[in-house]
Amino acid sequence: MSKKGILHMRLGPGKHMHGVDLMDGAVKGEDFDYFHDLIVGQEMTRANARGFQDGNMAGMTISLTAVLQFANDEEWKNKIAKEVFSGEKKICLAITEAFAGSDVAGIRTTAEKTADGKHYIVNGTKKWITNGVFCDYFVTGVKTEKGLSVLLIKRQEGLETSAIKTSYSPAAGTAYVTFDNVKVPVENLLGKENKGLQVILSNFNHERWMMAGAVIPHCEANQAWIENITYQMTLMPYAQQATHLAGPIGLLKMFSTRSAHEIADEAVQVFGGRALTRTGMGATIEMFHRTYKFDAILGGAEEILGDLGVRQAMKNMPKSML
Ligand SMILES: Cc1cc2nc3c(=O)[nH]c(=O)nc-3n(C[C@H](O)[C@H](O)[C@H](O)COP(=O)(O)OP(=O)(O)OC[C@H]3O[C@@H](n4cnc5c(N)ncnc54)[C@H](O)[C@@H]3O)c2cc1C
Repeated sequence: MSKKGILHMRLGPGKHMHGVDLMDGAVKGEDFDYFHDLIVGQEMTRANARGFQDGNMAGMTISLTAVLQFANDEEWKNKIAKEVFSGEKKICLAITEAFAGSDVAGIRTTAEKTADGKHYIVNGTKKWITNGVFCDYFVTGVKTEKGLSVLLIKRQEGLETSAIKTSYSPAAGTAYVTFDNVKVPVENLLGKENKGLQVILSNFNHERWMMAGAVIPHCEANQAWIENITYQMTLMPYAQQATHLAGPIGLLKMFSTRSAHEIADEAVQVFGGRALTRTGMGATIEMFHRTYKFDAILGGAEEILGDLGVRQAMKNMPKSML
């Protein structure tokens, strides 16, 4: 995947693609746009194995962007990027806790500075961390003195992971993570101290758009909607996308998973017993019916995204009428 440029492509268009040879020269990294990104995302789902799909570097897709955008040292950033893009090291995003899912601000994992100001000491837990079981780096949300911050934490003494059994596959490496007096150099801070929410939110739109693309099951209306949004993404810089497209992307993901609910239910009914069997004719339907809820919860649950979509519309288009 590294040699074909697939690891690079999972992060979407950007500077990290410059000079990268994609699929043996089929596309130049510089020319890669959001339509290529959509194709990559939708092709990756064709294995029809939802757990494997997330195991296949989903953690990297939602966490490496934070390092690329917010690392405070260029040399250090390039070292991490090289290790991860070569496939040598694995990275994941560790924000959610048993105490805080939708409400990110409620996290309890703490990072306290040492007296000499050179390190943070991290204590706490994280839950449901995709790829965590086999990751080397954890982009971790922590509570610092006056707010939320994000640290890149290397697997080391005091950082333990254990597997959580979910209704898809252990291939996803879903983990419970414990930090017990983990020592982290202050240079590993991403963005500014106490301004971590910006770092966490920065990747949400791409993640949600990508998840909508992956769950759309042969549904013309949703596919047309995502292509419309994708076209707008190709014309807007990232910051402008956040203003104009965060709401529509949220509503698209919500509607895609509501559609998935209907489609999974109907498909099982039509296929009968075959759709309740993990092998044979109905295997794909069985897998989809068992796992479409992952997309309805992860990366922003449906209610949260519906709320976001309506709030954004009221804020940015106050004069429009339904
Ligand atoms: C398999 C799996 C993999 C995951 N991978 C990662 C990962 O890699 N990294 C990571 O950091 N996290 C990860 N998560 C966590 C995921 O992002 C959260 O599960 C998700 O944000 C929802 O949080 P929650 O499960 O605590 O549910 P809750 O936030 O408790 O929500 C429960 C229900 O209440 C609703 N609700 C909550 N607040 C409101 C509100 N204000 N208004 C209306 N309704 C509301 C929700 O929509 C939902 O229906 C993963 C989760 C799972 C299950």
